[in-house]
Amino acid sequence: EALDIIPFCRHLKEEIETSISEHKINFSLELGEEISNNSLIVQFDQKLLRQILTNILTNAIKYSPDHNVINFSLTQENNQIIFKISDRGLGIPEADQANLFAPFHRASNVGTISGTGLGLAIVKKCLDLHKGEISVDSRVGEGTTFTVRIPFLRR
Ligand code: ATP
Ligand code: MG
Repeated sequence: EALDIIPFCRHLKEEIETSISEHKINFSLELGEEISNNSLIVQFDQKLLRQILTNILTNAIKYSPDHNVINFSLTQENNQIIFKISDRGLGIPEADQANLFAPFHRASNVGTISGTGLGLAIVKKCLDLHKGEISVDSRVGEGTTFTVRIPFLRR
């Protein structure tokens, strides 16, 4: 399935913004210089990519205080498209980072923030289906960055 990534991400961003009451976040979408004037056509199931990015973006919002800054960036490197979603929220304790993608695993610092612990397990499954990759870089009290890489095969 051919999917034009840039309008897709713009649309997803707008959709998430309008679903959040008031302006809870300062949410920006940045495009790498190498792609800002091009369209990026990938072979990737639109529903799966939506699942993946929505789960990560809604986590970034959920685990950050109000009016926080969330950055969503899109770059291209060799044969991969790279999505980075960064927040300045709670962060994830190092001890929890290894199990983050296992079903029902929630970090020890979630406090009263509710969740089932399934979002990232679904993300991992979706990525495995398409030879995608995900990694996390996080520090408690500073914030979290999730990096998603999907293969870029121009039609
Ligand atoms: P849900 O199934 O509703 O998504 P959840 O958000 O708890 O529930 P996951 O999305 O799988 O589950 O995330 C797993 C855990 O990873 C979370 O419970 C939380 O501890 C931690 N986590 C995920 N994203 C972030 C983030 N951006 N900042 C801090 N912690 C995070
Ligand atoms: Mg979640």
